Amino acid sequence: MEFEIHDRIEEKFVGTILGCGMGDALGQPFEGRSRNSIERLCGDDTSKFYRGRYTDDTQLTIAMAEALIEGKGYQPSVLVKRFIQWLDEPPIGPGMACLNAIYNLARGVPWTKSGYDSGANGSAMRISPIGLFYCHDVSELIRIADETTKITHTQEAAAAAAIVVARAVAYLAVNEEVVLDDFIEVLCNALQKPEHEEFKNHIGMLDSFLKQSPKKALKKLGILGVRPEYLPKKLPENGIIHPYACTTVLAALYCFLRTPHDYFESVNEVILAGGDTDTTGAICGAISGAFNGIHKLPKSLMYRLINHEHIFSIGRKLFAVYSEMNPAFK
Ligand SMILES: [Mg+2]
Repeated sequence: MEFEIHDRIEEKFVGTILGCGMGDALGQPFEGRSRNSIERLCGDDTSKFYRGRYTDDTQLTIAMAEALIEGKGYQPSVLVKRFIQWLDEPPIGPGMACLNAIYNLARGVPWTKSGYDSGANGSAMRISPIGLFYCHDVSELIRIADETTKITHTQEAAAAAAIVVARAVAYLAVNEEVVLDDFIEVLCNALQKPEHEEFKNHIGMLDSFLKQSPKKALKKLGILGVRPEYLPKKLPENGIIHPYACTTVLAALYCFLRTPHDYFESVNEVILAGGDTDTTGAICGAISGAFNGIHKLPKSLMYRLINHEHIFSIGRKLFAVYSEMNPAFK
């Protein structure tokens, strides 16, 4: 199949969702492992174990995109219906918060009360379509990233992380360059609640981390802001990326910003750092895909991604609905 696209923003829509899928599938074989264990298996090349199998991160990103397509924008009832359908796919390696909250929805609990007390990755990992669709409406982007998070995750950390991923994707979808100070300022400005202050400070520190080697930087970023009672008693010597939404997003942003023009380099680096690797890969992959667009993603990985033609068509449909709803920005 030839991926014929000539509109640059459309390339980025499709690149975001495929980038999420490929990053998820690159990380999938290593989920839960430490850096030492991953490096023992694959050296420094995670693609050696690539089988193109994505997990819940991509399933729910597809669900989010399809809900936006069907609803011609975000409509809670459409998203809730599509989330409930996910239970029949069935979910691949789901997180507890998403699963419990969506079972609540399936039992008839209203979406305003379905959320689970969690600050994990479940919203940040699926939020990229919101960043794309609302790339020209930042206040709606923030409101909707927050609201859709609360359907499954009630802690502010989960919402803050999702807002930042959506805002990053929006910025990268409409810009051809990443001006570091500008990008970081834009992300910080999207965090508007007092509870987001600490995460905002950590995002502001990314430029100093970028001066450090990836191993050193990711060891610190991987646990930054995690309260001591949530840390494992014995941390692996080389660290992990803690499956807390804010650390996951910090690590993904760091790896993207180190090598913005090289999709594989960014995603490979974040996966090597260990932890919830399918999710770190999915988030970093969506962010890098939004910047690079489909034509700069590695074809050898793309053609081996399960359902890549279907994912490609979802990206195109999302762009078609976005164009229809935003004629001024077409
Ligand atoms: Mg997963």
